[in-house]
Amino acid sequence: MHKYQIDEETLQDVINIETGILYPLRGFMGKEDYQSVVENYCLSDGEVFTLPITFDVVEEFYNKLESGSQIALIWEGRTAATLLVEDKFQITEEDLFKIFKTTDDKHPGVLKEKKRSRYRVGGLTKIVDMSFIENALNPVETERIFREKKWKTIVGFQTRNPIHKAHEHLQRIGLEICDGLFINPITGWKKKGDFTEEAVMAAYNKMIELFYPKDRVYLAGLKTQMRYAGPREAVFHAIIRRNLGCTHFIIGRDHAGVGNYYDAYDAHKLASQLEQRYNLGIELLLLHEPYYCKKCGQIVTDKNCSHYATDRVEISGTIIREYIAKGSIPNEIMLRDEIFNEILSVKQIFIGEKETQK
Ligand SMILES: [Zn+2]
Repeated sequence: MHKYQIDEETLQDVINIETGILYPLRGFMGKEDYQSVVENYCLSDGEVFTLPITFDVVEEFYNKLESGSQIALIWEGRTAATLLVEDKFQITEEDLFKIFKTTDDKHPGVLKEKKRSRYRVGGLTKIVDMSFIENALNPVETERIFREKKWKTIVGFQTRNPIHKAHEHLQRIGLEICDGLFINPITGWKKKGDFTEEAVMAAYNKMIELFYPKDRVYLAGLKTQMRYAGPREAVFHAIIRRNLGCTHFIIGRDHAGVGNYYDAYDAHKLASQLEQRYNLGIELLLLHEPYYCKKCGQIVTDKNCSHYATDRVEISGTIIREYIAKGSIPNEIMLRDEIFNEILSVKQIFIGEKETQK
């Protein structure tokens, strides 16, 4: 059997395949599935899937592999899983453009993908060391929790930021519509300058403690990397939450976007198109951006306020990050004081250079 050292993101993908978070995947994508996802937003059997999940290896190793070879996937000296090789292929820069709509190195998802080898290996994966999935979030567990809580409708909320007033607005809409709110922040790799997992979770724990109905909210982290792939990642995030037992999923403004690579509602457009073409198995709540309106004196959206842009105070994770990084206090119309103080109390607020190195 071949042996190959894997990185943390590859390990996490294998875990998420095993637990069913990445259903219907049962391993890393082969060429056919990969091409189909890149071109048509679905696997080769027609099942909707919007982001490639692939295994990259160095060229020398790639050349040794044949269909039917077995690879032991090694993490920190232990065999975490095995992969049965079905297929191998190379990806191109053209593919990256189709996935990210850019090949700019300044895009963190593109840069990360360019740093990987272009040689990819597809095939079934199997976790062999069960300690790797013991504490992993998994659909069996979340569905059991939702059943126990007697929730019939569950709205999933994706985030990589501590809660601010705009997200609070979206979540309260979710709580009006559904029995339960599943707050499921990404706790895998994020770009330098993003909030740490510690800051995000501390903020949410405080929010639940002080403001939300505790019996209607469930908070748990999702270990997977951010790809910053905007529209494609928005639908990918919805598929994951469907797999975790959610019936509804919120897609807001510029979901999983970064910089100015995607228009504010590109994710809504793609989601609507795919809803017409495929059965997503989850209802999408495509919600407009909440902002503070000085004339209305509250958080509103352009669907329920008639005032001009000059009356608006924008609220976003990026704006909050900038405030805190500069050492200034964000306005309470954006971020609750209790949440702000909680963020300041954590050991490390932002992800530094170290965490982004591989
Ligand atoms: Zn207004």
